[in-house]
Amino acid sequence: MLAYVGSESNMKNKVAIIGSGPAGYSAALYTSRADLKTTIFAGQEPGGQLMKTTEIENFPGTPKGTTGPQLMMAMQDQATRFGGELVFESVENIVKNGVIFTIKTESNTYNFDAVILAMGASPRMLGIGEEKYWGKGLSTCAVCDAAFYRDKITYVVGGGDSAIEDAVALSKFAKEVTLIVRGEVLRASKPMQKRLLDSKVVVRYQASIKDILGESKIEKLVLDVGGVEKTVFTDGLFLAIGHVPATKFLADSGVELDELGYVKTGGEYPTMTAVPGIFAGGDCVDHRYRQAAVAAGSGVMTALDCEKWLENK
Ligand code: NDP
Repeated sequence: MLAYVGSESNMKNKVAIIGSGPAGYSAALYTSRADLKTTIFAGQEPGGQLMKTTEIENFPGTPKGTTGPQLMMAMQDQATRFGGELVFESVENIVKNGVIFTIKTESNTYNFDAVILAMGASPRMLGIGEEKYWGKGLSTCAVCDAAFYRDKITYVVGGGDSAIEDAVALSKFAKEVTLIVRGEVLRASKPMQKRLLDSKVVVRYQASIKDILGESKIEKLVLDVGGVEKTVFTDGLFLAIGHVPATKFLADSGVELDELGYVKTGGEYPTMTAVPGIFAGGDCVDHRYRQAAVAAGSGVMTALDCEKWLENK
């Protein structure tokens, strides 16, 4: 079935936004307020990573703090207030036909004049059932959650730049920080490794987490350190073992990805991809900052670039 979203207003340019995290909703707010017919492909679980987060203290404009779901519901309300339409379907592919972008989901096909990619990236998981401890001692963002671990015992998994950044950030608050590295060496850059030397972080090489124990929150970890198993108490477990951008469906779209699978942007319009008319922002582009506020700002940039591009077309 070929669906023309909002066909009653075909005179307007139609913009598809793929993703319903801070980047997608912020882009939708701007495109719909700019009178572009906006459709947000929110997937089956709208709201992105923040739906799994509990307290948030570092989103500007929330002086008393908020929760991830509250923030995302507020963003969703604002994104749809000026006419943005939500479609709870996942995009399977995007094909450019002349000047039209055809988006296919499992059940429908839609046509648009421009597309904004804002699918985000998911933190890689250990695969030992840790998901049930989300917000109960498990975190993938020390910048967001370190302050909740003042005087606590914490563990960080990973040996890359993120793991060191997280461990050092945590060490400013936590009583103990142990970095669990699966190999014999750190993958992190030399300058990042230097930061470890001045910190109280203890590094355990050839180590892994075999199991997580605790009823209502994480209480203990079962570790394997150099082949020796031991159980330790902990208040928090931070995973920093990489992210996986949700960009697989772009394989045949012409959009260029970097070696880690993140969308490449730049050129005349800073947020435009290798395909004119397709823009990208938020965590599917950014493997450095990964903050909700940064993603929101990046989403706004995509909308402004998209609007200008349509105007100039
Ligand atoms: P990386 O992919 O660089 O590192 C992931 C780390 O996790 C590796 O040490 C890897 O181990 C380990 N790992 C992966 N899977 C598992 C697993 N199942 N169990 C245990 N350990 C695992 O990811 P980062 O997020 O650290 O960095 C991504 C990019 O972002 C990099 O380009 C980095 O330089 C950049 N970055 C830059 C920062 C800065 O400059 N301030 C800060 C943060 C990130 P192994 O080494 O054995 O493969």
